[in-house]
Amino acid sequence: MISSTDTVIVGAGPYGLSTSAYLTEAGVPHQVLGLPMHAWKNFTPPGMLLRSEAFASNLYAPWGGYTVEDWCRRNHIEYKPVGLHLPVEMFVDYGQWFQSELVGHIRPVEVADMCRKDGYFRLGLSDGSSLVARRVVLSLGLKSFGQAPSALRSVPKPYVLHSGDFGNPMWSKGKEIIIVGGGSRRSGWLR
Ligand SMILES: Cc1cc2nc3c(=O)[nH]c(=O)nc-3n(C[C@H](O)[C@H](O)[C@H](O)COP(=O)(O)OP(=O)(O)OC[C@H]3O[C@@H](n4cnc5c(N)ncnc54)[C@H](O)[C@@H]3O)c2cc1C
Repeated sequence: MISSTDTVIVGAGPYGLSTSAYLTEAGVPHQVLGLPMHAWKNFTPPGMLLRSEAFASNLYAPWGGYTVEDWCRRNHIEYKPVGLHLPVEMFVDYGQWFQSELVGHIRPVEVADMCRKDGYFRLGLSDGSSLVARRVVLSLGLKSFGQAPSALRSVPKPYVLHSGDFGNPMWSKGKEIIIVGGGSRRSGWLR
């Protein structure tokens, strides 16, 4: 089945949701493809605290009333612009509330391929259908862009995994693991 729209947003994380809110305000017909807050829900360790301060963790909206502070007020959570240390589960709730208020329906599909034909984009979707659009906004996040050091690229899974490949690190319990890299994702693991 082939359907069409003016603009497609691929990815329903914070940027995809914000973009949708702005397109709605501008009156641009569009569809959002993906699973809402999927990367945050499924590929971050449970209980992880956001590194960004609460005042810097807002999803942007063209209307007032949708900041982290607004969400905290609605949920009777004491808000502090600095030092709140939001757990990832709360940030997911905030994103899903933002979606329900400002975005509405999202098609829960992955974009499997995309090509350009006759001035339009044609997207092949994971449910087997196709979508034609004049414009495409890619808000894919970081997950698909993980890099492994060249010396490790030929080692198959599960012996070498990228930290973006999983959320809950419980599978590593009792195993001897070498962590390559010292960013926040790795140090969070070691807690
Ligand atoms: C461990 C970790 C901690 C972080 N902590 C913070 C923090 O504290 N504060 C902060 O501001 N930022 C933090 N970030 C950065 C964070 O990723 C971005 O700020 C934010 O999530 C970017 O939003 P996004 O919408 O671009 O990406 P994402 O939230 O990653 O959303 C992109 C979505 O696109 C979907 N997608 C990808 N490919 C396809 C496809 N082909 N078809 C359909 N959907 C697709 C993905 O499933 C995903 O749900 C952190 C990142 C990581 C990995």
